[in-house]
Amino acid sequence: MMSYRSAWNDFPQCILCGRCLEVCPLFKLTAQEEISPRGKAFLLQNMSLHDIRTRDASRLASLCTGCARCVSVCPQKINLPLRISTLKAAHPLWKDWIWSRLILNRTFFLPLLRLGGHLLPGSNPLAKTFAAFSSKGTAPLFKLRNTPKLKPEKSVLFPGCMGKYLRPHLEQKAHSMLSSLGLDLLPTPGWQCCGFPLGQAGLLGHDALCMQTNLKIWKDMGRPSVYVFCATCLHGLTSRQDLGGETLDLKHFVRSVVSISEMIPGLNLEKVSGAEKPDLIWHQPCHGPADTGRLLQDALFIHGLSLAVHQDHCCGLGGAFRLQSPKLSLRVARSLWQSIAPHQDSLCLTDCAGCIVQLCSTRPSGVRVSHWLELI
Ligand code: SF4
Ligand code: SF4
Repeated sequence: MMSYRSAWNDFPQCILCGRCLEVCPLFKLTAQEEISPRGKAFLLQNMSLHDIRTRDASRLASLCTGCARCVSVCPQKINLPLRISTLKAAHPLWKDWIWSRLILNRTFFLPLLRLGGHLLPGSNPLAKTFAAFSSKGTAPLFKLRNTPKLKPEKSVLFPGCMGKYLRPHLEQKAHSMLSSLGLDLLPTPGWQCCGFPLGQAGLLGHDALCMQTNLKIWKDMGRPSVYVFCATCLHGLTSRQDLGGETLDLKHFVRSVVSISEMIPGLNLEKVSGAEKPDLIWHQPCHGPADTGRLLQDALFIHGLSLAVHQDHCCGLGGAFRLQSPKLSLRVARSLWQSIAPHQDSLCLTDCAGCIVQLCSTRPSGVRVSHWLELI
């Protein structure tokens, strides 16, 4: 078992400056110092002096959405979500604990469960009912027409859990879009999870295993460009710094991963005649590229549609956070919807599988939630 004390020694120390307080969605909502990033960093530093006890570890680890807003402002470069994952990984009972929560909350988490289901004992029977959570999404507003072609290059899609389980029609949409741009798409192989949800849940060995398998698949395919349409997959596939002895290959792989949202400015869209003109909202995923909302806003503006971009709100899912602290998770989501104040028939767009699950399950009546690809 990994020692949390030795893991802690590799981390920088909190200087209690408090810069993280104003960006943390949980502190903004509750004003409780003990669940602020500063409070958790202080507690974790002191915990390193003692044996980790189940109750302490579970409580601390549960109170973070993993949004990483505190990481971006911390002068000490403290990565609190990583620190919490390390704590979970070091905890001898963590896997049992999180599994019990997965079972207890299965009606909400089955779609995500199947993503890593093969890694968790006995999950497959439960995963069978995942289909109940699939959604048809929204009717397209646009079709593609004579899109200028890119330089042909060997490419492949990484559909992630969203394309595989949540909204399978998105993989076909992404495929059509990239083909129309002239890309030479290889058949989608049996990718593993991007690793991010597993790492966040403290299953650090499993996330590395997934990445190793994905790296081998990519090398066997001749190192194509990898197109991703989930913000969290993009983050999961590109944020890993090392993988044992495969550092060079990993760097090359990370450079080959492309967000499909980068293609938005090159699309030649034509409005579907008679299509609705909904009130459009963009929800920015915590781990996604910051400019996707703006790119989409520009593309829609040409067609007389406005998109209200909301950058500053976490949806409150946070992977295991929803399992561990469902009430607090729902409070974060309600706070997001209150800030956005959507109309009754608003269409909220985003590009993260986890955000879609959380927003769908907490949306005000009449509001729809879609991936932006569903506009096409
Ligand atoms: S990752 Fe987000 S929720 Fe967690 S402590 Fe940092 S700012 Fe707060
Ligand atoms: S910003 Fe970093 S150093 Fe400052 S209080 Fe927060 S965690 Fe500590």
